[in-house]
Amino acid sequence: MSNAINDPQGLPDVHALEKLANAYFSALPGNYNAADVPSAELLPHSNNQIQENSTFTHSPSAIYQGNAIDLSDPQTSLPDSNGLGLGHVPKSTAGSGGPSGNFNTAKQANNPFNISSLLPFEADQPYEKELQKALASVSSYSPSSQLPFNPSAILSENSYYFSSGIQFVTSADTQNSGRYGNGVVTGKSQPSFNVNLIRNDFPLLSEQVNGKPLIWLDNAATTQKPRQVIDRLNYFYAHENSNIHRAAHELAARSTDAYEGARQKVQRFINARSPNEIVFVRGTTEAINLVANSWGDEYLQQGDEIILTHLEHHANIVPWQLLAKKKGLKIRVIPVDDDGQLLLDEYAKLLNPRTKLVSFTLVSNALGTITPAKQIVAMAHAAGAKVLADGAQSVSHIRTDVQALDADWFVFSGHKVFGPTGIGILYGKEDLLNSTQPYQGGGNMIEDVTFEHTQFHQAPARFEAGTGNIADAVGLGAAIDYVQKIGIDNIYQYEHYLLDYASHKLAQIPGLRPIGTAPDKTSVLSFVLDGFTTAEVGEALSREGIAVRSGHHCAQPILRRFGLEATVRPSLAFYNTCAEVDTLVAVVGGLKSAKQIYFH
Ligand code: PLP
Repeated sequence: MSNAINDPQGLPDVHALEKLANAYFSALPGNYNAADVPSAELLPHSNNQIQENSTFTHSPSAIYQGNAIDLSDPQTSLPDSNGLGLGHVPKSTAGSGGPSGNFNTAKQANNPFNISSLLPFEADQPYEKELQKALASVSSYSPSSQLPFNPSAILSENSYYFSSGIQFVTSADTQNSGRYGNGVVTGKSQPSFNVNLIRNDFPLLSEQVNGKPLIWLDNAATTQKPRQVIDRLNYFYAHENSNIHRAAHELAARSTDAYEGARQKVQRFINARSPNEIVFVRGTTEAINLVANSWGDEYLQQGDEIILTHLEHHANIVPWQLLAKKKGLKIRVIPVDDDGQLLLDEYAKLLNPRTKLVSFTLVSNALGTITPAKQIVAMAHAAGAKVLADGAQSVSHIRTDVQALDADWFVFSGHKVFGPTGIGILYGKEDLLNSTQPYQGGGNMIEDVTFEHTQFHQAPARFEAGTGNIADAVGLGAAIDYVQKIGIDNIYQYEHYLLDYASHKLAQIPGLRPIGTAPDKTSVLSFVLDGFTTAEVGEALSREGIAVRSGHHCAQPILRRFGLEATVRPSLAFYNTCAEVDTLVAVVGGLKSAKQIYFH
């Protein structure tokens, strides 16, 4: 097959590529059409029939055969076979009956990254390898990184996913270049994508609202979910549901494997050193409250100072205020310029020996500003302070590398990255997590309990008291798989163009004032419109099927910095199109003439 890809000059054959890509996409979970799948033998775990109306081709027992967790000897130390420090299984959990703490299931230990033990959602699809190979030859051959952006290429109805003629991200462009100076590394040659095919994966994007096709431009509030995530949740409850770590039965093994597998996906996605650094929480808000009430309560003392930025979401202000009031701490704020960029020289002046913590966002949810994160972290560390980085608005748009960033904690919410609500991540450096008191007490987080004393597990179990949100953690794992299949660098690149396109078009509307005009921005297009309240604009857009947020976006301090109480905030994701932006611009631009109809 690979011979057919290149012509005698070694140039790629577009028709062969198209054929491969079509086969590849028709075989993706969620796009399954049994008739399109050439041979069941080619599919992973293909020992069962393809079921009608089913994404799955094999039975759960086939998946788990030979992988059942062995809880009979919870004291066992398993070999550290994957080099990730996963080898130790802690002592039995008194009162909960199973191992917890630094997790390692029998499945992982025996066979850490064995493809054949993956669930259907996780396995590479037929043709994927051939396609990647072909695309690698295209990107190494093509000088197309020089091509100008052409929105119509993105809007075209190409029948294949990867379009030639769309710009490629090359490592030379972006690899570790510190383009944004923020430890967010873009890079690796990857092809761009056809947004029309991606949209098919998101059922809600086909919804009609007020008789119009939905245009979802409220992605900073929450993202829509691909079928792969919805199916994964369904599969969990249909085939795997059990409490985790607690029983020596088959379903406990399945759910534990699924849950711990999701933890490893998160670890790899953000490039943490170990899954023990990944704590499942409810979301960004809970993660910040956890750090404030565990580390902050334990280590901060009267007179200590916390530095925040003017850009912060209330979730990264209020927990610190509560702590400051309780402990007599001082909060200081890094100001911004009129474009919404942080003033680093002012930051330098705020740092002093009393500074114990700097807590800041990587991307402003109200303005879209990308902050110079790596510099902020380095300056804080030089002053002896710890750093918490809020990735709620960055994680779905730009590559996260917590080791390069070097923040002590990094937090984000699953629902902002195409995963379920009610699940999120606290990353913390392992030593720091293990030297911090727990946040909540209960089952799952203890090694031993008497009425006099409790011995806690190491991280992550130390911070996961009680039964967590198991299914949604698994769903978050599926969302991460989905994002990685598209490629976060492709997402970044495409959204960057879309943002430029939308900013340019909106700026031409008379009376529209953009709020947040930093050169380094992502996703967010806040504005106010002369003669209209933000609620009026939001309602008018909703009547046309366009969902945007209008209000204070839980970021009142930064809006007040611009003399405002509210803005209209369209926010983009990789499934949005230039055509949707055109509709937004047409409705906003036409509001003045429509004022009679709408508002009188
Ligand atoms: N931080 C930022 C920058 C946000 O944008 C948000 C939500 O919009 C949060 C924190 C809070 O996230 P959650 O409500 O998912 O906990």
